Amino acid sequence: MSSLVEKIAEIKESLAAQHALTLDEVEQIRVLFLSKKGKIASLFEEFKKLPAEEKREVGVVINELKNFATEKIQSLKMALEAKVEDKKEDLTRSAAPIVLGSRHPLTLVRQEVCEIFSRLGFSIELGPEIEDDYHVFSALNFAEDHPARDMQDTFFVKPGPDILLRTHTSSVQVRVMEKKRPPIRVLCPGRVYRNEAISARAHCFFHQIEGLYIDKGVSFADLREVLLFFAREFFGEKTEIRLRPSYFPFTEPSAEMDVSCNICHGKGCGFCKHTGWVEILGCGMVDPAVLEEAGIDSTVYTGYAFGLGVERMTNLKYRAKDLRLFSENDQRFLSLFQSVH
Ligand SMILES: [Zn+2]
Repeated sequence: MSSLVEKIAEIKESLAAQHALTLDEVEQIRVLFLSKKGKIASLFEEFKKLPAEEKREVGVVINELKNFATEKIQSLKMALEAKVEDKKEDLTRSAAPIVLGSRHPLTLVRQEVCEIFSRLGFSIELGPEIEDDYHVFSALNFAEDHPARDMQDTFFVKPGPDILLRTHTSSVQVRVMEKKRPPIRVLCPGRVYRNEAISARAHCFFHQIEGLYIDKGVSFADLREVLLFFAREFFGEKTEIRLRPSYFPFTEPSAEMDVSCNICHGKGCGFCKHTGWVEILGCGMVDPAVLEEAGIDSTVYTGYAFGLGVERMTNLKYRAKDLRLFSENDQRFLSLFQSVH
């Protein structure tokens, strides 16, 4: 008896370990175990020869095995059929839509500007948005009574030793000049704050990218060439630039740069106020007083600086009409930039 019970246990074990990749394989397993000449049928042959007193006990075990085999083969079959069913569905069903995010238009423009200048050897420098009076104004030659120091124009965090939200990224240039010696060639992108009423054309915060180059023999002609190169890389080969004299406390001489309007191509439109030109940046030669304040010998070194508004560049490139769109995070607006890399 014991040898038959052992055999039953062995067969059960080998049955439990069976697996099938196809329905044919399931059939092979069925034939091996459950057919008329299968392993379980031969167990019944041996069972018949057992003495009557043992039959009762072994009969229970052998019937259990037969049930187990039937269930096992049924479950192998069902698993395979379910797989086939799944595959059929995959073939007919369209794929679930993949929702892609998009970069913010200001990020796209900032990256493009940084990429163009990095090809000219400019490296990126970042600085704090909460600044002190020295780095935002004093070190940049702003007079004590300059209107930018007024509460009307600047957000002050703490009066006293004045702590404020930087009004321009020129403060980063001051920090760079403090820790680096020429040649200096940096680009400083960042967010700046002004105390202005929010409208379609003005916001209390916006983004700037400033550039600074200091070395021996840097001239205004170098500045003009770099800006022309940049304008053509960014707006297209046919872009023209013009420089108009201007005033900034930290540059002398100073200029505003216009580019030919890329919306009307110089013919005149609402965006360029029918002049054919759009102002995009301020620039100039770094004032010797600013260099000296940073401990750089202005008799040996000269430099130029420029600063552009990212929102303005983005308006011009993508023709967004309202500055507020850039900070409202409206999906309908942002999703327009999904196809732009
Ligand atoms: Zn125009």
